Amino acid sequence: MIDLHCHSLHSDGTDTPEGLALLGEEARLTALCLTDHDTLDGVPAFLAMQSRTKARLLVGTELSCQFLGQSLHVLGLLVDPADARFQARLVELRGRREDRNRRMLVRLAELGCPLALEDVQAQADSPLLSRVHFAKALAAKGFVRRPPEAFERLIGDDCPGFVPREELSPSEAARWIREAGGVPVVAHPGRFAGGRFHWDEAMADLQRQGLEGLEGYYGEYRAAEQRYFVALARRLGMVVTGGSDYHGAHKMGLRLGRGRGGLQVPDELLDRLETQQKLGAHP
Ligand code: AMP
Ligand code: MN
Ligand code: MN
Ligand code: MN
Repeated sequence: MIDLHCHSLHSDGTDTPEGLALLGEEARLTALCLTDHDTLDGVPAFLAMQSRTKARLLVGTELSCQFLGQSLHVLGLLVDPADARFQARLVELRGRREDRNRRMLVRLAELGCPLALEDVQAQADSPLLSRVHFAKALAAKGFVRRPPEAFERLIGDDCPGFVPREELSPSEAARWIREAGGVPVVAHPGRFAGGRFHWDEAMADLQRQGLEGLEGYYGEYRAAEQRYFVALARRLGMVVTGGSDYHGAHKMGLRLGRGRGGLQVPDELLDRLETQQKLGAHP
């Protein structure tokens, strides 16, 4: 079993990269890919654990894009952490995030919930601040009773305190990831749109924009969703990946490698991913 999607405290998870590597060993995974949002800062500590775990430790990241007027997440799996241009591009993305965060503080103050940047920083163990840290800060200041209420009333995607980031296009994200030697993959498509959404056309569009894979196995998918997305990938000739999207204490009940309990990502998906990585490699 493998897990190609998880977060450390370098983005919005709560485990250290070292802790994740040990958890991967405990879960008897044969491979584990770290995919923090917008950053590879956890990678050196993660890879340094390779001698202490039998799980192959792999490098990735998760970027947010704009697609059909909504936020679509794209995984950059197997990117080269030594690629200076990619690192510079991630710095640019984190700058956009910081700008968004400052504007969210202004919006929250207007809504009667004044927070200082330091209040949000106090909830994070690394410089990258995401809405999970805003939610905790809002609870710590007594503006909501518990963090989930912050997402319901204030900072969820459709709430008045939410400010979107200036986001990438899927084609740009795909190009950046490819140029860093990685494989661009549509993360958890079932979370972007479920129910009656007909994915065939939209996914074919993303494929034309350079997305080469989709996350067919996911920590929070029901069995029917997994079947649907694995079949969709097969129809379109895209690679299938899978992971838990483990966030530690920031997503309770979700386990590394196992998701909500039933997740089992087959090892052979990694072989196919590595074949795809070579196929699409820039000369
Ligand atoms: P950001 O990247 O700062 O916009 O924050 C996005 C993160 O906030 C996601 O990766 C989730 O971890 C979390 N998040 C977003 N919406 C919700 C929600 N409705 N409930 C709980 N967590 C959420
Ligand atoms: Mn997250
Ligand atoms: Mn995501
Ligand atoms: Mn994720």
